[in-house]
Amino acid sequence: MTEVIDGNAVAEDVRGDLEDGIETLADAGVRPGLATVLMSDDPASETYVSMKQRDCEEVGIEGIHVELDADAPAEDLYDTVADLNADPEVHGILVQMPLPDHVEDREVLRAIDPEKDVDGFHPENVGRLVAGEPRYRPCTPHGIQKLLDATGVETEGKDVTIVGRSNIVGKPLANLFFRKAHDGNATVTVCHSRTTDLEAKTRCADVVVAAAGVPEMIDGSMLTEETVVIDVGINRVDADNEKGYELVGDVDFESAKEKASAITPVPGGVGPMTRAMLLYNTVKAAGRQEGVAVDLP
Ligand code: NDP
Repeated sequence: MTEVIDGNAVAEDVRGDLEDGIETLADAGVRPGLATVLMSDDPASETYVSMKQRDCEEVGIEGIHVELDADAPAEDLYDTVADLNADPEVHGILVQMPLPDHVEDREVLRAIDPEKDVDGFHPENVGRLVAGEPRYRPCTPHGIQKLLDATGVETEGKDVTIVGRSNIVGKPLANLFFRKAHDGNATVTVCHSRTTDLEAKTRCADVVVAAAGVPEMIDGSMLTEETVVIDVGINRVDADNEKGYELVGDVDFESAKEKASAITPVPGGVGPMTRAMLLYNTVKAAGRQEGVAVDLP
């Protein structure tokens, strides 16, 4: 029987694990604060940010939300980030991507105080991750590690194939997986759009992580009975329903489920974990900045 890994349930456990930390902070007179910044008219981005704000409210994190017009000058965004960097009630800052074309993503990420960079994308935090000493693990890769751990899948000595080499998923995940650590120690293959014979790379892996942004590109024929499949993809495809679309992953769920040993669904797999790990990083950031020892699993 293929196990369908329930990301909602694991995310709920992570949120539960944060309760003690939030209480420890409260005893010290600290309420963790997460600022979200939206500079976009994209409805999907608006939804993501409002979900993150709702998550904060539910667990007792102070949510601060700043919205800028999508055509505002880039300087307005830098000024906002500078204000949030200086605000002692803000422990984490998340600038929702993608940004408008006239704003340089990398410059904005650089402007965020690395201590408040709960996404883990500031070059200093990327460097620490590559050096094997992450300050904040990027949310999606960390969420994937937690999902595997909760499923009882160890990576030590295993072969992992990651399809996708982006800065937000593929690259940081590869670094975490081959890190010399109990939840790392895997042998990692990272594939991308120029990879030849992708099937050979997925079929020889114990764990396959699909993060390419290509709807249902990995199917059952590319897996074995032993493969654990983590589907990061979130793709809108046309559908004959009220919304006119549905969300599918990068994995063809039906055929993969027939073959693999375990698989995450879309939605309800990696997505809820990404959100939960943002809360985790915010609580961790509050502890670090306020000098309060917060015990997080
Ligand atoms: P990017 O577009 O930044 O990167 C995609 C990567 O996949 C690139 O490295 C690209 O290769 C590679 N790729 C594209 N096509 C192929 C192919 N046919 N074969 C092999 N590799 C290919 O995407 P992201 O990393 O930002 O996101 C990936 C997916 O994950 C998206 O669907 C996104 O919506 C989703 N996502 C989900 C999250 C969640 O919480 N569940 C969080 C973040 C993203 P190359 O480098 O050569 O271009």
